[in-house]
Amino acid sequence: MGRRALLALSGLLLLGGCSGAVHQLPPVSTDQVAAALAEVRSGGGGAMLRAVSDDEVRTALREAVRRIDAAASQVCREMNVGTCQWKFAISREHSLNAGALDGGLVVLNRGLVENGLGEEELCIVIAHEIAHHAANHVVQGRRNAAIGATVGAVLLGVATAAIASGQRDGAYAVHNAVQIGMRTGAMIGHLSFSKEQEREADYLGALILYRAGVDLDKARGLYLTMARSTERNETNILDSHPIGPDRLAAWDRAVAEIRASNGRLPPRAR
Ligand SMILES: [Zn+2]
Repeated sequence: MGRRALLALSGLLLLGGCSGAVHQLPPVSTDQVAAALAEVRSGGGGAMLRAVSDDEVRTALREAVRRIDAAASQVCREMNVGTCQWKFAISREHSLNAGALDGGLVVLNRGLVENGLGEEELCIVIAHEIAHHAANHVVQGRRNAAIGATVGAVLLGVATAAIASGQRDGAYAVHNAVQIGMRTGAMIGHLSFSKEQEREADYLGALILYRAGVDLDKARGLYLTMARSTERNETNILDSHPIGPDRLAAWDRAVAEIRASNGRLPPRAR
């Protein structure tokens, strides 16, 4: 375990430079990472899967999308970098995972709900994936994607703000949950993102939640859960990018900066 922490730390110190992030992200000190690691190691048992109906899964995810959608569209338009029209699909996978795929598609595993994530935590998962699209990480990262897998997923009928403003028909065309097969993906999509892109998606996700009025302290629970799960070597979201204490510490720095700036986008990276 010590080795993993060390790797996370050394990775952190090497951050910066040209890494595919659109914005400058706040630095994180080794003290902040150490504090996060102590928190990760204190308490927290493994999660039990809850039995939930398809309806419950759909409702929970749809509500979370609705809560952040307007803020996400606003942030995306301000950035003016990537795609701001998103489609959401639910995958039958039980793992705590989600992904950003070609064409503005966000795939959400039913495992997110089965693992008992709270509404704010679902919001940050979705905002994080949207952020990959908004920052155009998906297109950039795709070049690196070496493997694909086919997963069945069902489109989540959500009229997003972007769609509702112009293409109402499109929104309702996806309302009838359609079985779609996709080459993905969800986890694999993440394989191709750089560590800095993941951090940027975390930052932008937090920014979206802030503007949407979603409680960031509650959303933070996701990162703590993930970091603990990573410590236990369980499969989790961003399996290819384990959430270590560095990422938790970076989340805290991001939230502090976002609150201080009252939700402004950070300066662009050069
Ligand atoms: Zn990501």
